[in-house]
Amino acid sequence: MEKQRELITGKAKTVYATDDPDKLIILFRNDTSAFDGEKLEQLDRKGMVNNRFNAFIMQKLEQAGIPTHFEKLLADDEVLVKNLDMIPVECVIRNIASGSIVRRLGVEDGIELNPPTFEFFLKNDALHDPMINDYHIYSFKWATEQEVADMKELTFKVNQVLTKLFADAGLLLVDYKLEFGRYKGKVVLGDEFSPDGCRLWDAKTREKLDKDRFRQGLGGVVEAYEEVASRLGVDLN
Ligand code: 5GP
Repeated sequence: MEKQRELITGKAKTVYATDDPDKLIILFRNDTSAFDGEKLEQLDRKGMVNNRFNAFIMQKLEQAGIPTHFEKLLADDEVLVKNLDMIPVECVIRNIASGSIVRRLGVEDGIELNPPTFEFFLKNDALHDPMINDYHIYSFKWATEQEVADMKELTFKVNQVLTKLFADAGLLLVDYKLEFGRYKGKVVLGDEFSPDGCRLWDAKTREKLDKDRFRQGLGGVVEAYEEVASRLGVDLN
């Protein structure tokens, strides 16, 4: 598979075309950003850890019947994926209240949400990813009603698979963000699943083991990601 021109440079990943129009290569960089790119740092090994972590999770999800863009690992920091037509919304599920919902609704940090709650956000850094509802998505034609239904169903299915996977490793999956795209008429999970886009707490101590360590300047960011990876059995070598 030949890597060709750079298509998109995101905050933490770069996407390249390949000689197959149906496939892309994603490079996971060490760049780490928060607050819509206002805080930026290079963290050693983060590209490799997130690439391998994401590959592990995507394969678990595929095994559970969730369609993903993952094809194969190409290098420590590179993965081959399907070329999706991305839907410009973020799907968030929260099992425990933390982060923006605490600020928006004035609820207590750390309370369990039963049932878990679901939110849509528009992918737009300049507007700070505003929260939107299903009707915004239909009216602005960002996705069809069927695609919205599929994204919700798949995001909840991911929750079933991953809450158990993380619980078995002594971790609470507090919340996470997923992005989907279209591929040959189907809604398929794209982007990445890594500690950059979810909250993971130690089940006993509630220590944060995710990107909140970076956002809140707690240090030990990549070490925390490696701790999670090692508890799950992700091969980092
Ligand atoms: P919140 O709305 O509380 O900021 O985020 C909810 C969850 O989605 C968190 O796990 C957070 O990491 C993830 N998330 C939301 N928006 C983004 C984003 O733009 N980039 C990344 N990496 N994660 C996000």
